Amino acid sequence: MSFQPQEQVDLRPFNTLGISAHARYFTCVRIQPQLQAALRWAMENDQPWLLLGGGSNLVLAGDVPGLVIRLEMSGKRVVHEDDEHVWVRAQAGENWHELVRWTLEQGWSGLENLSLIPGTAGAAPVQNIGAYGVELKDVLEQVLVLDALDFGLKQLSVDDCQFGYRDSLFKREAGRRVILSVDLRLRKQACLQLEYGPIATELERRGIQEPTALDVSDAVIAIRQSKLPDPAELANAGSFFKNPVISAEQAAELKQQFPDMVQYPLAAGQVKLAAGWLIEQAGWKGRAVADAAVHERQALVLVNKGAATGAHVLALAAQIQADIAQRFGVRLDIEPVIVGAQ
Ligand SMILES: Cc1cc2nc3c(=O)[nH]c(=O)nc-3n(C[C@H](O)[C@H](O)[C@H](O)COP(=O)(O)OP(=O)(O)OC[C@H]3O[C@@H](n4cnc5c(N)ncnc54)[C@H](O)[C@@H]3O)c2cc1C
Repeated sequence: MSFQPQEQVDLRPFNTLGISAHARYFTCVRIQPQLQAALRWAMENDQPWLLLGGGSNLVLAGDVPGLVIRLEMSGKRVVHEDDEHVWVRAQAGENWHELVRWTLEQGWSGLENLSLIPGTAGAAPVQNIGAYGVELKDVLEQVLVLDALDFGLKQLSVDDCQFGYRDSLFKREAGRRVILSVDLRLRKQACLQLEYGPIATELERRGIQEPTALDVSDAVIAIRQSKLPDPAELANAGSFFKNPVISAEQAAELKQQFPDMVQYPLAAGQVKLAAGWLIEQAGWKGRAVADAAVHERQALVLVNKGAATGAHVLALAAQIQADIAQRFGVRLDIEPVIVGAQ
């Protein structure tokens, strides 16, 4: 298959932070042979490559050298079912939220808490997307990847993917494995996760006592719309920092100093802190570097008010990190993937 990439393409329409940066080479792939041709071209021409889905978890620090490959393979279908479960396979380029709603409309549950997360099905395993007490790994059966080392196709199990909190093998070895499709194990009888307080409150507000999975999805959508800016209206990449995990001893000391500090005890003597709480307490809401700003209502979200560059966003992030480290002795890690020349 002959391959001819576009050159010097502005990636602004392809990232939800709305940052303008140019890809030296750019292509969209809809079928596997196109993907293989693109990867072979990059290797033969000694060009690095960047895999791109919906661009909702990226910070473009500068122009991107090499070839940007936008994955647009579409399709979803049932691959297997038994009395209790149905296994759905989604191709990498499927829109995640549309996939979630489609499964719910068929009467299958499992993805309802993960409603309205932007991006593609293929990127969902990369940071093991999670929300409201559910992570992708809880519903994932396996992932089909193309390994760029030998062009072999491999099915990876959940264990193979080495999932962690907003982390996986794919995030640690970026670019090597292209996720082609994901298989999700869904339930025919709903088993709802309602521990997260605001979901129960929202269902109550709607007068729903025996919710279906679709009701939970509707509630999650309403909560998210009230809390998070819509990238179509105000450019952003969702949560900009991971919630830090610290030792129980450090958490106890901090609790003495800051009695209101939000803390979630984890297994193994560790405690998770709410990054948004730390940033808000430190007074960062609304503060800005050029057009890069901390959202007025949601301290965990950095927004682009128009002409922010990756450098502006990262300078703001660095100031926040330094301040939080100084005030609380806690390190904040950036959640989105940083790409491009810095
Ligand atoms: C408003 C908003 C809210 C959000 N809320 C959440 C949330 O609640 N929970 C959460 O976990 N995340 C959240 N996110 C982050 C983001 O939506 C997810 O990480 C999503 O899975 C990214 O998908 P994408 O297709 O946009 O990936 P991209 O941003 O295009 O890519 C992200 C990374 O994955 C790699 N990649 C993409 N596709 C593939 C593939 N097929 N194979 C291998 N690697 C690939 C890319 O190279 C890059 O390293 C939010 C983002 C926004 C803007």
